Amino acid sequence: MAVKNVPEMFGSLVFNDEVMRETLPKEIYRSLHKTVEEGKELDITLANAVAHAMKDWAISKGATHYTHWFQPMTGITAEKHDSFISPAPGGKVIMEFSGKELIKGEPDASSFPSGGIRATFEARGYTAWDPTSYAFIKDNSLCIPTAFCSYTGEVLDKKTPLLRSMEELSKQAVRVLNLIGVDTKRVISTVGAEQEYFLIDRKVYEKRKDIVITGRTLFGAKPPKGQEMDDHYFGAIKPRVMAYMEDLNEELWKLGILAKTEHNEAAPAQHELAPVFSTTNIATDHNQLTMEIMKKVAKKHNLVCLLHEKPFAGVNGSGKHNNWSISTDSGKNLLDPGKNPQSNKTFLLILAAVVKAVDDYQDLMRISVASAGNDHRLGAHEAPPAIVSVFLGDDLTKIIEALINKEDDVEGPQKVAMKTGVDVLPDFTKDTTDRNRTSPFAFTGNKFEFRMLGSNYSIADPNIIMNTIVAESFSQFADYLENSEDIDKAVSHIIRREFRNHARIIFNGNGYDDAWVKEAEKRGLLNLQTTADAIPHYTAQKNIDLFEKHHIFTPLEVHSRQEILAELYTKTINIEALTMLEMAKKQLLPAAISFTGSLAQTLAAKKAIGMNIENDAAFLLADKLTRLTNAMYEKIDNLDKAVADAKNIAEGQDLAFYTKDNILSAMNELRAVADEIETDMSEDFIPYPTYSDLLYSV
Ligand code: ADP
Ligand code: MG
Repeated sequence: MAVKNVPEMFGSLVFNDEVMRETLPKEIYRSLHKTVEEGKELDITLANAVAHAMKDWAISKGATHYTHWFQPMTGITAEKHDSFISPAPGGKVIMEFSGKELIKGEPDASSFPSGGIRATFEARGYTAWDPTSYAFIKDNSLCIPTAFCSYTGEVLDKKTPLLRSMEELSKQAVRVLNLIGVDTKRVISTVGAEQEYFLIDRKVYEKRKDIVITGRTLFGAKPPKGQEMDDHYFGAIKPRVMAYMEDLNEELWKLGILAKTEHNEAAPAQHELAPVFSTTNIATDHNQLTMEIMKKVAKKHNLVCLLHEKPFAGVNGSGKHNNWSISTDSGKNLLDPGKNPQSNKTFLLILAAVVKAVDDYQDLMRISVASAGNDHRLGAHEAPPAIVSVFLGDDLTKIIEALINKEDDVEGPQKVAMKTGVDVLPDFTKDTTDRNRTSPFAFTGNKFEFRMLGSNYSIADPNIIMNTIVAESFSQFADYLENSEDIDKAVSHIIRREFRNHARIIFNGNGYDDAWVKEAEKRGLLNLQTTADAIPHYTAQKNIDLFEKHHIFTPLEVHSRQEILAELYTKTINIEALTMLEMAKKQLLPAAISFTGSLAQTLAAKKAIGMNIENDAAFLLADKLTRLTNAMYEKIDNLDKAVADAKNIAEGQDLAFYTKDNILSAMNELRAVADEIETDMSEDFIPYPTYSDLLYSV
């Protein structure tokens, strides 16, 4: 194999700082930097010069088109391509790209969800360049990361509120930090998003209508071997998967995405990719791109990359771990506890801000990860429960308990030397926080890991929430400190007060244990099991006030987002129900009836030659299948009715609850009987690939 020059390949399709320095006139380069740093509006001469350089660079890389790349509320990215060509005399064309085209686009906005903000006839929407995220080339198009808003200025995307939340977090954190003597002009929120996915063979995939249409299996009996042997996690990667991962890494590296770690996950056919962390908006852009490229590269390898949160029942689903921290402008990680966390007041204050934020806004944290797909994971003994809590580990908890109880001599964590007992291995220092895989929000040494995210959706929403709620804690702290004479005393007071007030959210035990559900209820923590249950909390007055205070969303925008969430939830389940009905009516039921028919024929033949068929296996099986197919027919009918009756329910929250209580439950009942039929059927008659075929296809 040819040796690959990774450093040369890395970022080769990105109009990054280095390229800008090389291609832009010095003056222009400097003013662009200044504009971005100071967050000022771009003037048109500057935009023209940048556009010109961008176009020449893009053409030299083979690009013919450009697109404003944006993130509407569908959770995926959108693009509308225009070519650079412009007519020239003599029937020729020249390649053109102006500053105006760079900074502003006008896509038709009517087909994107707005949650009732904008009637469809008011189609106009604007996209505006986000110069803090580099332009890049994908499929011969120059992609310009942009924000998307309506003609009347309402936000229609995920990037704008994310950028706002980053700014607000910075503003409020800087207020606090400067008051306590930490010198920084900006605070940057950083994110590393670990991404889980499944890989299956494309030929097998194509035969499963449910996966093709909905991304997950709606039927399927458990395979003889699932993940009970724990032999897939970190196991040796198969050659075909390895080839895929290599190809994927290259594509991501070219786009400047820091793909770093890859390994097999717990379930068969499940894998994970982790990038090196970056600033929140770039991490978000990159995660969107990563998901897209994952699917694209899979196609090349005759594979399909499944990003659904729960493609297979009874097998672990896929999530995303959102590692989150904040740092100063000089890059110092503010969640680094240092050697003596018990006396590191800056760290304890920031920790208190996060713990308070998560407790005060459990509902928003839950909402930020709510989707029909993710509901199958949360609380299903594989992913963290739907109850939001914070894991701090024993050492930090001890420090905090001592603080709450006003004990002065708090002992710091003791690093324990661990003997490996093998001479060739060096002795290493045991981490002071053990891993707790069941916590939804865990402190992992120098960052928080939010683990409730589903694999499929944009990480923008959870990060908008994280940044905003922590900004709120900081803003309250800053107000208090600004009115305090003795800052040092005031800081100690805040730390103690907040940990005391929010101790209930800290939980270091096993989140999968049923006892936790009861304990959490006693503590008064929310347990919003499904998206339907979470939706009404979006517009709680305290949440509307929060968003308005920090200029993230207007009340109208919060309502619209709530509406979109309800709509996505109900539409997703409705499509699943219709797909189920189609597969049940057109595939499984007829197949089961045919199989029963073939058993009956065998029995008739046996009888004709005088055999006693009373206790014949074919007789008993045919009898059982007849009962099951009759039951299945009834369940199909029930689901049909539940879907039809949905038309009488008011859209929004009512329909969300109806969908959960009536449609989803009818789907579960249909699936139960269908899966039982599948178990009893001859392989020759099963109309689609089974779980074994799917999970062991690569
Ligand atoms: P694990 O979760 O297996 O312990 P790592 O410690 O390697 O894995 O980190 C997981 C993710 O956390 C990586 O994407 C990494 O870049 C990210 N990460 C590390 N430090 C920070 C930080 N300060 N801010 C945000 N993300 C971080
Ligand atoms: Mg992790």
